[in-house]
Amino acid sequence: MRKLLCVEDNEDNLYMLQLRFDVLGGYEVLSTRDGAAAIVMAASERPDLILMDLNLPNINGWEATRRLKANPATRDIPIIALSAHAMSGDREKALATGCDDFDAKPIEFDRLLAKIERVLAPASGRRRDMAGAAPLPGRPP
Ligand code: MN
Repeated sequence: MRKLLCVEDNEDNLYMLQLRFDVLGGYEVLSTRDGAAAIVMAASERPDLILMDLNLPNINGWEATRRLKANPATRDIPIIALSAHAMSGDREKALATGCDDFDAKPIEFDRLLAKIERVLAPASGRRRDMAGAAPLPGRPP
């Protein structure tokens, strides 16, 4: 069972994600609508991955990502940024801020899931998995 933390202030998106992961199975979904709460939950819940909306009230997703990646206790948790502004350079900014991947809204669940599974895969090149890790059989290194 993978544990996801969805940081999203849009109720419809949150509902859709919860429903789709429930149907899919294999994922426990935690959620918060608030960037400050996300920072606290990331440290206490140790999710396998964070979906981070960039446009949030209070502490936005940019600042929350910066704080999570600056903290040794949370910096290894992969973050996939979600933004409605795919054409505005948010992708490059998100990756530069430390996000592991980026996806554009409106959310297309299957596309997002493919990115989630790629980031979670042991052979994906995540830094904490790279030291001495052999590629899985049947997967390209
Ligand atoms: Mn938002």
